Amino acid sequence: MCAIVGVYGSDNAAKIAYYALFAMQHRGQESTGISTADNRTIHLVKDRGLVTEVFDEEVFKVLTGRCAIGHNRYSTAGDDSVLDAQPVFARYKLGEISVAHNGNLVNKNEVRNELIDNGAIFQTGMDTENIVHLIAKSQKDALVDRIKDMLSKIEGAYCLAIQSRSKMFVIRDRFGIRPLSLGKLPDGGWIVASETCAFDLVGAQFVRDVNPGEMLIFEEGKEIYSEQIFEPDYRPCAFEYIYFARPDSVIDGKNVYEMRLRMGRKLAEEAPADVDLVLPVPDSGVAAARGYAEGLGAAFEMGIVRNHYVGRTFIEPTQEIRDLKVKLKLSPIRPIIEGKRVAVIDDSLVRGTTSRQIVKMLKEAGAAEVHMRIAAPEIKFPCRYGIDTPTKAELISANHSVEEIAELIGADSLGFLSIEGLVEALGKERNYSLVSFDGDYFAGGNADSPGCSV
Ligand code: AMP
Repeated sequence: MCAIVGVYGSDNAAKIAYYALFAMQHRGQESTGISTADNRTIHLVKDRGLVTEVFDEEVFKVLTGRCAIGHNRYSTAGDDSVLDAQPVFARYKLGEISVAHNGNLVNKNEVRNELIDNGAIFQTGMDTENIVHLIAKSQKDALVDRIKDMLSKIEGAYCLAIQSRSKMFVIRDRFGIRPLSLGKLPDGGWIVASETCAFDLVGAQFVRDVNPGEMLIFEEGKEIYSEQIFEPDYRPCAFEYIYFARPDSVIDGKNVYEMRLRMGRKLAEEAPADVDLVLPVPDSGVAAARGYAEGLGAAFEMGIVRNHYVGRTFIEPTQEIRDLKVKLKLSPIRPIIEGKRVAVIDDSLVRGTTSRQIVKMLKEAGAAEVHMRIAAPEIKFPCRYGIDTPTKAELISANHSVEEIAELIGADSLGFLSIEGLVEALGKERNYSLVSFDGDYFAGGNADSPGCSV
């Protein structure tokens, strides 16, 4: 999860990074930060909270320079210290460095233990600190070679924006698991961002996706330097399309909303329901529910209202609070639902908490039948490549059959999109990362590897 942005060669670098992070707030609400470089030094502002809470006009007086990198952090339970906010800044032999990272390194414990054995001191639990240490400890003279040294030692999913006092380095892992795109700013500067929705807000023109395994180097007065560091083996994450990315973003040339419509249509083919109405779980299920209703030829209604002032249900650590938060967030429109047989569509089923609450809520609002449909395959494995999914023990589909889950959540029926159906909806030309569904940990690690920390 998380979002990164990098801006280079713009007089408004910090403000542009700020707007880009604002557009990508959905990717992480725990903490946010921006660092800028003005050739002499790096300036950093980061804190817990939302983008609009952390930055104000005063802050931009500090954040000077024509290069800015930024980060929104999505954290799992517990580690909510400001120390865990990014970018991570350090002084080392070659000067100053700042790093923003989206993804998850599967060998972070091995690397960290080795660094600690050699005397390194860590301030946080984040794998991003490994990256800074590896760069600092490399014996190479040039930063670019130190970065390459570091890249040869890390495994897993990463998109990186690394800033020195004068340059910016952008790297995407060889599988391209997390999205990263390059855009051109109206003032001639450059922007890279996790999602293209950031470009739309700052008026940037999409140029291309950063290639899997590619490093870009930005330097004042020079063309962007590109080097293919690793042989690419493109495996973009299917879950970005299912849930995580904003519907207006384009990943790998595909608009996220359109992909969700297609998943919904496919779901109607694979798991139809005899109903009067199709309802989405807002906002995550809206596009898929439209596709599902269209596929069935059934009526579509926004029969559940979402309170937008509540954070995502996953953020709170305990089960009791999660349950309460679902009720705080969603509420049914009784006259629309009463006496009707409804299909309710969500984008994914993880622990089953949301679905159970929704079925209960719809039945209490007078629904005659509630058929739950999920526009994704069953999540049976924890993702170790940057999506925050819990351990196998907590994943309801890892431990129960579809019929058992239907009973557990109180639904009259339950249906999922098949893995083949998902791939067909997204387009068969790509070899997607489907690790949560098929357990193929192609980028290293396994179900027991350390989970997402950034
Ligand atoms: P659950 O209630 O545990 O079954 O989670 C499913 C709900 O959480 C769905 O409404 C999804 O939109 C949402 N969701 C799925 N994956 C994630 C995630 N990694 N982080 C936060 N929310 C998620």
